[in-house]
Amino acid sequence: MRPTEDTYRHKGLRKKLADGIRSKGITDEKVLEAIGKIPRHFFLDSAFDEAAYEDRAFPIGEGQTISQPYTVAYQSQLLEVKNFEKVLEIGTGSAYQACVLAEMGAQVFTIERQKKLFESNKTFLFLKKYPSIKLFYGDGYEGLPKFAPFDKIIITAAAPEIPKKLIEQLKPGGMMVLPLGSGDIQRMIRITKLETGSLKEEVFDQFSFVPMIEGKK
Ligand code: SAH
Repeated sequence: MRPTEDTYRHKGLRKKLADGIRSKGITDEKVLEAIGKIPRHFFLDSAFDEAAYEDRAFPIGEGQTISQPYTVAYQSQLLEVKNFEKVLEIGTGSAYQACVLAEMGAQVFTIERQKKLFESNKTFLFLKKYPSIKLFYGDGYEGLPKFAPFDKIIITAAAPEIPKKLIEQLKPGGMMVLPLGSGDIQRMIRITKLETGSLKEEVFDQFSFVPMIEGKK
């Protein structure tokens, strides 16, 4: 069961979580504000009521996880989201990352390959608060050609290589942030598609994500 009550205690725990993430080096105020605002316990079973505000990943069913808040903040900061930008997310999962991007002012298009997770988000009442989030069931490797091009793309599962079709759906000047690698540990990478069409690649810290898998389930 999903909790629906947001108490002062939850708000206090959230503020602590945002402060903790700031002390780990996140400086983007829009990111920290979003973390301090979104009731993360709503995205988990009520058994995780307090634990939801620990800086940890948790299971959300179907063998998938809600990313660690620090990781969500790290990717969101690298994405440099501006108001009204079109952002494509691969791997909706719990939809927590999508809400962080929406709070930052993005128009979010998010794809999930697991039908059960997609359907659970379709009936997740809290998401009604964010009409700027559009949920899609599909294979993230295909992106969303009908809605392309995007200002930004974020992949929240470990990609063994840079998905070519997604690069094609990026605007010139656009950026894509993804954990790259096929092992247990990946490197966070930011790719900028320059106006000339060539790609600039920047390498950041190591993280551990569930794999990006081809096809729908
Ligand atoms: N952004 C999520 C993190 C979820 S974990 C959150 O905030 O909770 C990664 C998710 O990516 C999983 O739900 C997994 O099913 C999904 N995924 C993996 N490969 C995918 C693909 N090819 N297309 C779409 N989603 C994919």
